[in-house]
Amino acid sequence: MKKQIQVRQVKIGGGAPVAVQSMLNVHTEDVEACLAQIKRLEDAGCDIVRLAVPTMEAAAAFGEIRKQTDMPLVADIHFDYRLAVAAVENGADKIRINPGNIGDDDRVKAVVDACKKRQIPIRVGVNSGSLEKDLLELYGPTARALAESALRNVRRLEEMDFTDIAVSLKSSDVPTTIEAYRLVDKACDYPLHIGVTEAGTRESGIIKSAVGLGTLLMDGIGDTMRVSLTGDPAAEVTAARKILAACGREKEPINIVSCPTCGRTKVDLETIVLQVEEALAPIGRKRQEEGKRPLTVAVMGCEVNGPGEAREADLGVAGGNGKGLLFRKGEKLKVVDESEITSALVELVKHYEDI
Ligand code: SF4
Repeated sequence: MKKQIQVRQVKIGGGAPVAVQSMLNVHTEDVEACLAQIKRLEDAGCDIVRLAVPTMEAAAAFGEIRKQTDMPLVADIHFDYRLAVAAVENGADKIRINPGNIGDDDRVKAVVDACKKRQIPIRVGVNSGSLEKDLLELYGPTARALAESALRNVRRLEEMDFTDIAVSLKSSDVPTTIEAYRLVDKACDYPLHIGVTEAGTRESGIIKSAVGLGTLLMDGIGDTMRVSLTGDPAAEVTAARKILAACGREKEPINIVSCPTCGRTKVDLETIVLQVEEALAPIGRKRQEEGKRPLTVAVMGCEVNGPGEAREADLGVAGGNGKGLLFRKGEKLKVVDESEITSALVELVKHYEDI
């Protein structure tokens, strides 16, 4: 089992559930925009939020943001150790650096000392785009080079008597990412932050992350994760949660299953499923907070096979000709018009325990 670190109230490693992270894509200097996005990420189920701190203004804004939310906040620092020190002093719960681009030992030590003083962890984050020259010459742009770079930078911190560490080694190539994490998993006991970097737009990014992170999670590797997508960070959180659920690492509060549709379908099932998914997401989170058990909701294309195929679902709807047959555990409840399917299902889920 990996060593455990703590980021504000969230534990990482040591048997804790895999924590889901995301990163803001608004400017850190814009405190209001950051707080609004943090709230959206929180609503989506995010555990930890990272913010870029590229300037001293951003470091100051980081302090303001810190005062106005309880979300664990990680400061992402490149090159300038003074930004890391300022972010720590302004209340960062964790720092992400690549010690290789922070500079000489004095500078790295200044960051380490600041983190020690406030007892916050450092993520050593290396990626394939910033590998050291000697490692590139020795191994090429490979998983081995990434792993060696991470371990080398971890050792630098250890030599400064600092072990409150998480490690990440990201590549945009999925097999390289998987191999690099496997190597480091064997070589050290620090919790691993897993991710595929620059994964891309929503569709390709989710597929790359599902394959890369899913493979690692199924191997038991990964203590915290980020799905990187170009665009809305809330989508990263939703995808991360779905990957965890698909790997059996957590249960979705409301698991929606739907049939692929076929020539028997006489409703616009795709639109209905999307509406149901959106409408049930906040209700699922509320149920989870209230400690209620997870539910499976089936959205099926036809009455002929739908209720039977979805007999295991707690609740479901099967499309008829412009209608929807609502059912519970395969047993008929009532029929509604197609336009009322989503609202009827929402009502049933809201009052599931009283039906
Ligand atoms: S549930 Fe009905 S509509 Fe959906 S795939 Fe099966 S047979 Fe086709």
